[in-house]
Amino acid sequence: MIKANNTNIKTWVDIPADTDFPIQNLPFGVYKVEGQGPRVCSALGDRVIDLLRISELGFFSDFDIPKSVFDNQYINDFMALGKEKTRAVRDRLSDLFDADVDKWNSREMAAHILRPMSEVEMLLPIRVGDYTDFYSSIEHATNIGIMFRGIENALMPNWRHLPVGYHGRASSIVVSGTPIHRPMGQQKPADGPPVYGPCRLLDFELEMGFVIGKETPLGEPVPVKDAEDYIFGLILFNDWSARDIQKWEYVPLGPFLGKNFASTVAPWVVSLDALESVRVSGPKQEPEVLPYLKSEGKRNYDVQLEVRITTPEGLTKTVSESNFKYMYWNMCQQLAHHTVNGCNIKVGDMYASGTISGPDPGSYGSMLEISWQGTKSVEMPDGTQRKFIQDGDTVSIHGWANADGVRIGFGEASGKILPAREQRHQA
Ligand code: CA
Repeated sequence: MIKANNTNIKTWVDIPADTDFPIQNLPFGVYKVEGQGPRVCSALGDRVIDLLRISELGFFSDFDIPKSVFDNQYINDFMALGKEKTRAVRDRLSDLFDADVDKWNSREMAAHILRPMSEVEMLLPIRVGDYTDFYSSIEHATNIGIMFRGIENALMPNWRHLPVGYHGRASSIVVSGTPIHRPMGQQKPADGPPVYGPCRLLDFELEMGFVIGKETPLGEPVPVKDAEDYIFGLILFNDWSARDIQKWEYVPLGPFLGKNFASTVAPWVVSLDALESVRVSGPKQEPEVLPYLKSEGKRNYDVQLEVRITTPEGLTKTVSESNFKYMYWNMCQQLAHHTVNGCNIKVGDMYASGTISGPDPGSYGSMLEISWQGTKSVEMPDGTQRKFIQDGDTVSIHGWANADGVRIGFGEASGKILPAREQRHQA
């Protein structure tokens, strides 16, 4: 039992009842305010906890952690400390804000270590090294397969034998709140030659990312049973997708410019530690997987997920309610497969699940599925229709787990779509 997860702990900090960030969560991120550099932080209710200040006040002095770990633009160095230390930091934070612990004079220091979230800017928390995107939801892969190949051949022959994935682009991963311009690109109308223009079928993909906290040397695979040692935590992930660009370009090497223009992540990484009590078993895998992919125990996580679209006028509709537990391939299997050939991993690498769709239409994780290739529409609160994402729309992904009655939230991964920058390539 991880001490900080104890649901009996109450904090002396005044926190909203429905917060994503009770004292049992304590996620990690990076914040910035005018006049001071970026700092590693945690969250409690509607405040950020300044870990640099806590470190400077000596509350971590027994952990032997260099100040530069917290005086930092990213949490990479923090994750690289290893789980023993990051767990100790989380437990210490729990103690500092526990109403029943008065060993620490943290209450007197509150003004120095807590700041209202509304007054800070949250930054991209990870210096992302490599980014890989999987395709591990059987409901999603089946839906896409039915659309493009028919129900008989919905899943490709390899799909149930290995977690399909591709190497994505790390440079265009941005933090929640960053506006995204509709991408320009090449598309192929059904009748006629290819054209260049703004993407017309812009989509989101509801995904969960995991972040690496421990590296491996080249040539050394990560076994399924050890994979969680390498995974620091989870982050909400929107893999923006330009369906028309993707459709024309992807044969035979897979996704390229239809994907790499942007991906949006939440500013908070929730540690695997905080999610201990929401582990669940994944779906039964048929046929049996090869020995190197065999996974034991509860390796899926029950995290409810939601996608909301907000119109330019500010009217919001929830278009998808899904769950991370639906994943056919779990993260340990993904990481084992990724490294089975000797591919090494580094601290800050990010791996996304692939679109997380559930069994019923209300749980589909992309507009491609929700609109079933544009054959159906979603009615927005203002009466307008959506098959894909329009300019001025904001897409936001939310996630939370119910850990024995306590809400462990993931914050928000939100991005507004701005018009395409067409003029740039018009000579
Ligand atoms: Ca994806």
